[in-house]
Amino acid sequence: MQLTVNPSVSKRPKADLIVVPFFKTKKEVEPAVNVPDLKGTINPILKAGDFSGKEGATMLAYLSGKTEKRLLLLGLGAAKDLSMEGLRKAYGAAMKRCQDKAWPHVNFVLPKCDKLDIHAVTRAVSEGIALTSYVFDEWKSKDNKKPFYLKKGVLVGARDLAACKKTLGILSGVNLARNLINRNALDVTPQTLGLEAKRLAKHFTSVKATVLTKKQLEKEKMDLLLAVGNGSKMDPALVMLEYQGAPRSDDLTMVVGKGVTFDTGGLNLKPTNFIEDMRADMGGAAAALGLIQAAASIKLKANIAVVVPTTENAIDAHSYKPGDVYRSHAGKTVEITNTDAEGRLILADALSYGQKHFKPDRIIDMATLTGAIVIALGDQRSGLFSNNDKLAKLCEKAGEASGEKVWRMPLDPEYKVLLKSNIADIKNAAGKRMAGSVTAAIFLQEFIQKKTPWIHLDIAGTAFLDSARDYHLSQATGAGVRLLIELLECIE
Ligand SMILES: [Zn+2]
Repeated sequence: MQLTVNPSVSKRPKADLIVVPFFKTKKEVEPAVNVPDLKGTINPILKAGDFSGKEGATMLAYLSGKTEKRLLLLGLGAAKDLSMEGLRKAYGAAMKRCQDKAWPHVNFVLPKCDKLDIHAVTRAVSEGIALTSYVFDEWKSKDNKKPFYLKKGVLVGARDLAACKKTLGILSGVNLARNLINRNALDVTPQTLGLEAKRLAKHFTSVKATVLTKKQLEKEKMDLLLAVGNGSKMDPALVMLEYQGAPRSDDLTMVVGKGVTFDTGGLNLKPTNFIEDMRADMGGAAAALGLIQAAASIKLKANIAVVVPTTENAIDAHSYKPGDVYRSHAGKTVEITNTDAEGRLILADALSYGQKHFKPDRIIDMATLTGAIVIALGDQRSGLFSNNDKLAKLCEKAGEASGEKVWRMPLDPEYKVLLKSNIADIKNAAGKRMAGSVTAAIFLQEFIQKKTPWIHLDIAGTAFLDSARDYHLSQATGAGVRLLIELLECIE
């Protein structure tokens, strides 16, 4: 898909469709930008009063002029309430309207308003269009595929071509994550993630990949990761990527992503209604790989080390068992009280190995970690846990700007008593339902060196939706990629 700009409404190129935005005022609907040659068509429509102008409302009309054959009226709601997220959703709605049709060239006219400057409008509109351009139809037969994929979108009224290029660069990372999550669990294995990392290293000179195999994990004594992998035919692995976007700086952010390629729950088997989505339990790993793809594409000025512990959590006679104790890479012993709390185990080993190996200035981990965070926050916000107020505030800001919102959750030391074990240093699950996402984060914190600023993002609700919504036409959202690009851009 190509996204380009054209500053002038009157000199816009020919297209199959023109999308024109409208604001809703108290009594009527008015154009959010003046398109003089379409007045004759637009005025009678507005006069008839059928078009609501609500955010995301659309109405199609046909044109007799030469530039476009069709006009899509697009509602933006009230001008005073206009937000970047509202623009993403509204232009996403316009894209959805196009999905059933073969309209490869579309002129998207940008609104003029006091609330947002042209940079914010250009960014948000391009993001709304780009994000909505992804569909996952690899398993649909030809007759069931939708014919429309936007080939060329022109942002009419915009000048900033670089903003469009940046959006598409970030989108390539989001879509990599979406594909890895959407595809079959047996097609996206720990080994697939390793190959994907190597592909990134081959494609970008700024990226280096290293994959630790099972033998190397044994040598490194990563027994928690190995324990979770015990029941699977596929070997676990530790996939690492180093992106150098600021070669003159020695500042380094480590990003750790949970890569459980399918989570049966282990011997604490998940029941129906809880197991069907579990190929998405590598959403953190997918976002970490997507982040590198995005960062390298836009030449982000930051250094990033990605560490992805990856395995299946499957069942056979060798599966790790509830009640057993394992020693972590960090040396702490862990009593396994629930084999379905496997994410924190593999993350613990990755966190301690990564800190030893990379000595990062800050750590961000992303994981589809707990069902409890879905109960708390649904699919609108990721759970944010942090030992550092400054970093947490930056992350909250990045969430608002990128549209991938977060909500800060507590890490009070009092919760730790819930993880007290009679036979080991700590147990992996509290055994009670209370504060489930907090105790998971508290467990991870046990493996973070005290002074290192750290963020844990629980993306269990945001990485994979129950069904398509807004600008996500597939269940996998790529959650974390846009948020982390934004966050890394704000870190000095
Ligand atoms: Zn699990």
